[in-house]
Amino acid sequence: MNRQFDVIVIGGGIIGLASAYHLSRSGQRVLVLEKKYPGSGSTGRCIGGIRQQFSTPGAIRLMQESVRQFRSMREDFGFSVEYHEGGYLFLAHDPLHLQTFKAILPLQLEFGLKVEMLDAGACLKIAPQLNPEGLLGGVFSPEDGQAYPFKVMEGYIQEIKKQKSQVCFFSEVNEIIVEKETAKGVRTTAGETFHADVILNASGPWASEVARLAGLDLPIEPEEHEAFITDRLPPIFTTMVVDYRADGCYFCQRSNGQVIGCYSPVPNKPGIHTESSLEFLVEMSKRTVRLVPELAKARVIRHWGGCYSMTPDGSPFIDKTEIKGLYVANGMCGHGFMFAPAIGRYVSEIILDGRYPFDWSEFSMGRDFSRQELMK
Ligand SMILES: Cc1cc2nc3c(=O)[nH]c(=O)nc-3n(C[C@H](O)[C@H](O)[C@H](O)COP(=O)(O)OP(=O)(O)OC[C@H]3O[C@@H](n4cnc5c(N)ncnc54)[C@H](O)[C@@H]3O)c2cc1C
Repeated sequence: MNRQFDVIVIGGGIIGLASAYHLSRSGQRVLVLEKKYPGSGSTGRCIGGIRQQFSTPGAIRLMQESVRQFRSMREDFGFSVEYHEGGYLFLAHDPLHLQTFKAILPLQLEFGLKVEMLDAGACLKIAPQLNPEGLLGGVFSPEDGQAYPFKVMEGYIQEIKKQKSQVCFFSEVNEIIVEKETAKGVRTTAGETFHADVILNASGPWASEVARLAGLDLPIEPEEHEAFITDRLPPIFTTMVVDYRADGCYFCQRSNGQVIGCYSPVPNKPGIHTESSLEFLVEMSKRTVRLVPELAKARVIRHWGGCYSMTPDGSPFIDKTEIKGLYVANGMCGHGFMFAPAIGRYVSEIILDGRYPFDWSEFSMGRDFSRQELMK
């Protein structure tokens, strides 16, 4: 096997694959090293939500680019990734959340998002099965949606393999070779050595661990999240509903009729832990039925655990590092699936052209963490 590449990507989740796809299409010979199999990290455990409703210019711009790419994936890959724009409906059950949605709206409109504030009645027109009790209103973006993560990964892998690049599964990197503050290559637990002048850390929840292989500190903390999926049901509504209460949840119905969803534990649960818990199953069921009572008849067929990779301000790190040739695309904070197409493109441009595509301060390694993402 060839040992010399232009770029080595550590991690074959959605971020590593999207980056390898764009780099390969730009003529780079890329090697993706994945310690297990595609989707074994966070990507195969996510629920596939895609939204442009963020509170910072950089995240909105990322998502506009991602949506542009999701829309053309059927054509680019030659098969459907089940991309579907059913919208995202954020619900407010207290005035504070309404205020937050209102405060962010001007920025979203400035970027051309088709977002609108709704009163409770208008929310019920979009999702008539919602329980109206305590509902004050919400904010809706019809051009948000969902896709099937496994199909998107399959598309990327298929296209990467058509180029001069390679994807190796069950290949764990346990050493990053650095000489004179410059990245030179990696070694794997199988004792193989690969060389490249550019190395991208795309190792999801393991990002800090992998960064330490090069002597770097990355302030990224994995935390536990769980999800469930039901049996197929007749159509309910097409939007993702996000119940923003501290004991809320969010879910959508896939095009095949299954309802898929999760909630964010409060307080958060630090660590890499991918077991599913009975506590989640019971709690998620209660929260779902409180929001949409008719889902009481749904049967949950599977639930599972996974990780978010959290940064101090809720925005990712997408940047070069102090080690020449070593780049990071980490800390996706629960949004890595939707960010991936844009990050893949922009990380490729940053590596190849050495320029940031727009004001990149939100994603830089050296930023302070005073600006927080409000639509978490
Ligand atoms: C329950 C749940 C629901 C979610 N819902 C959504 C959603 O609706 N929308 C959304 O956008 N995001 C969602 N997310 C978040 C999303 O899944 C992640 O942000 C995204 O998958 C991160 O992708 P990644 O490529 O950075 O990480 P991963 O998919 O974790 O990929 C990293 C890969 O690196 C590999 N790796 C680690 N260390 C090494 C090493 N030393 N050598 C080689 N390989 C290594 C791992 O095996 C792993 O496969 C959800 C997450 C969870 C858990």
